[in-house]
This record gives sequence, structure tokens and C-alpha cells, in this order.
Amino acid sequence: MEIAKTENIIEIKNLNVIYNKGKSNQVRALENINLEIEPEEWVIIFGPSGCGKSTLLNSIAGFETPTSGKVVVSGEDINQFDSQRKSQYRRKQVGMIFQSFHLINSLKVLDNVCLPQVFFGVSYEKRAKTAKEFLERFGIANQAYKYPSDISGGQRQKVSIARALMNKPEIILADEPVGNLDSKSTYNVLAILKELNELDRKTIIMVTHNRNQLQYADKVVFVKDGKILKVEVLRRKRKSKDDKDDRRLVIAKDVEVPMDLKLLMNSFRDLANPNVGQLLTPFKVKQVFSHLMLPISNHQVELTQQNMKKFFLGEQTKKQFFDKLNASIEKGGAGWDKRSAERFSNEVEEVLTQSEKIEYSSPYRSAISLVNYFTEKYPIRKTEYRVNIFRSAVEKRLKNQISKEELQKILDNSLDEKGLGLNKKKAQKIARELELMILIRYAG
Ligand code: ADP
Ligand code: MG
Repeated sequence: MEIAKTENIIEIKNLNVIYNKGKSNQVRALENINLEIEPEEWVIIFGPSGCGKSTLLNSIAGFETPTSGKVVVSGEDINQFDSQRKSQYRRKQVGMIFQSFHLINSLKVLDNVCLPQVFFGVSYEKRAKTAKEFLERFGIANQAYKYPSDISGGQRQKVSIARALMNKPEIILADEPVGNLDSKSTYNVLAILKELNELDRKTIIMVTHNRNQLQYADKVVFVKDGKILKVEVLRRKRKSKDDKDDRRLVIAKDVEVPMDLKLLMNSFRDLANPNVGQLLTPFKVKQVFSHLMLPISNHQVELTQQNMKKFFLGEQTKKQFFDKLNASIEKGGAGWDKRSAERFSNEVEEVLTQSEKIEYSSPYRSAISLVNYFTEKYPIRKTEYRVNIFRSAVEKRLKNQISKEELQKILDNSLDEKGLGLNKKKAQKIARELELMILIRYAG
């Protein structure tokens, strides 16, 4: 019987796994497990050692054959697959990450990452190119020609994440992926998984016995003695059945978040300051980006970004940047009209210049300079009282003591409410622009 396509990417039904069945050393590793996982969810399987977490994850990965019950992935019962389809499932639909990395020590990092594509007859050049993109994205491109034994644990885990991503699986399965890592590497690896979940929209199922990590999950599955004790939903990615495209209003499906922004986010993360890292949720990046983007085609967006990158890196002057935006697509430009190109290049330059004035070590001084800039750009009446409120709010944001929304509220609130009394739109624009500057500044 064919199983109808469902809302859930994974459905586990009455799953039982018994090891050594009927023998004296029989173990009921999983007992009557029922679980539903939605696309793009981050699910954490939590429980003490020996409770069956790995068995559950391996059952989803198709490594464990259930004694009874079903594991349905994208509408298909994976245990009905023939051996060829099953290995295709393991290689393409899911990507696995392990506590002990499972890298091949006799292969260089790059070759380890390429491995999943060797079976698909992809040419060496093409494999290596994809692999290098991942290594670059995770900030370890310079480790490509080393052996796993010559890099750190955190780097090894990044390598194994890159390997898991090679065949573009929709689902990432991670078995205690940070179990062997120090706190800085743990933070970096979890941040990568968060990015994969939120930006790349991977469904993530992660096993952990560490309570501190539960905050990352949308859904926590508490397991004990082979049974699910409870399932706690911390966040809903989809509001309701009818509203399943909700998130796509924010990030349109065909708009890929550009690689350079992802790279920016990556270097930002390497500051290894959890508080700074939290400024940088992909959602904010997207918002800031669209704030600057005018209504132009995706292709133009792409061309514009390429040029913006050169401008950012100092490979283009502002004049050259403007000329590129202004030139027609046939002539190698981005095909903007002149006035928009002028406004846009000015705005980008302004934001860059202002962001460079932010000093990490002196939020107070930085806030003064930013407030000067904002009060002139948006014209805001400068009384000492208002400048003080404004400066203090910006300073707090730079120290990450308040969120972007809280800053916006202060700007928006009336003077009586100890706010700045701006109109809502202005408050929103300023708060967004500041976010962008923080992004640029701390991304180095
Ligand atoms: P966890 O990952 O939560 O530590 P596991 O899923 O690895 O737990 O193991 C669940 C139970 O099943 C444990 O009692 C373990 O000893 C047992 N077990 C796991 N794998 C096997 C196996 N291949 N053969 C026999 N028993 C196993
Ligand atoms: Mg385990």
C-alpha cells in the first residue's frame, strides 16, 4: 500500500528495536516509539546514556532495521527500500555527523569531504570545488590539504559537517556532535548547525545528553529506557497547517542567501563571543539586506552583490562600483537606472564608512559618532536630552544589552515614555541600519 505524502518529513510509527531478540542478552533498545518531525524543524533527542538515542537516530538513518514498526521519510517507508534505494537514501537524503567524526585518517581533509560524491561519478574537479566551498564557508579552507590528525577537534567536526552536506541532504542527523569538543568549538559547531537549519532550511535531528543545548531545539524529545517520556515543542516553525509557507514570506524560496553573506556570518561567529553571535541571526541579515535592496530581478541582485563584494574588499572604488551598477547587463553591469545606482552606491558607502567608526572597545564613543550620523541623515532635532537618550540606547545595543526591537522601541516611544519620539518608520529604519553596521563591522 502506498503511503500518502504528509506534512511531516519524518513519521515514526510504533517503532521497536530489540537487540539479540530471544537470547539471554536481549535488549529492548526502543519501545513503541511514535514521533513526527516537520520539515525544517530542529529536533533534539535528549536522554541519559544507554536510553536508546543512537538507536533511534540510526533507525532514521537507515542503519538499524526495526524489529517492528515504521520509519516513514518524505512519505516513504525506508525499510521497504531495496538495498540500492536504501544506500541512495543514506547518501542523498540524510547527512550524518558523529561525536567521533568518523573521518578517514589516511585521506586529506579535502578528500574526506569529497568522499560522498565519489560514488556518484562526479568529476574530481567538480567534487573538489563543492568541497572547497564548504570548507571556506566554515572557515577552514586553509586546512584542506592536511590530514585529520593534524587539525583540531573543532576543525574535524567542521570537516565532517562539510562531508555530510556534500550530497545536499534535506535532513542532518547528528549523534552527540559536540560531545568531544571544548566550549568554543561547541559554540561554533552549534552555530553552524543553526545556520544550516535557518538559512539552508535543513531539518536537523540532534542527539545530546547535555541539557544546556536544549535551547537550540524547536522540539525536544525526552527519552528514557527506550521510551519517549514526552515531546516538548519550544517553537513552531509553521503556525498552522494552512500557514505552512509562513516563513517563506520572510525568505522567498528562490532567493538563496548569497555566499558572501554566509561567509560574513561565519567570520562573525569566529569572534567566539556568544553575545555578539546572537546579534547575527539569519533573519536579521535577511531583513537588513532587503532593506538596502531595491526591487530588481534576482539576476541583478546577484550581479550587484558580486560588485558589492569587490567594493567591500576594496577592489573597487565607489566610482567603479557605481559605474558597474549603472552599466547595462550586456555591457557587464547590473543594469540599474542611474539615479538608483547613485543612491544605492552612496548608501552602501555611507553605511561602510559609518560602520568603520564603530570601535569594539569603546561603545560609548562609537555611539556618539553614530548618533551624529543618524541625527543628520534622518533629520532629528538635537536637544541635549534627546541626544543623550539616543546615545545611551545605541550604546546599549552595541554592548548587546538590548535587542534591535528594544532599541527600536526606545526610538519610537514618546518623550514622556523616556523615548526619542520618532515616528515608527524612522525608528525602524535606524534600528535596521544600525544592525547592518554591526554586521559589517564585526564581520571584519
Ligand atoms: P544511547 O545512544 O542513548 O546511549 P544506544 O541507542 O546506543 O543508547 O543503546 C540503547 C541500548 O541498546 C543500550 O542498552 C545498549 O547497550 C544497547 N545496544 C546498542 N547497540 C547494541 C547492539 N548493537 N547490540 C546489543 N545491544 C545494543
Ligand atoms: Mg549514543
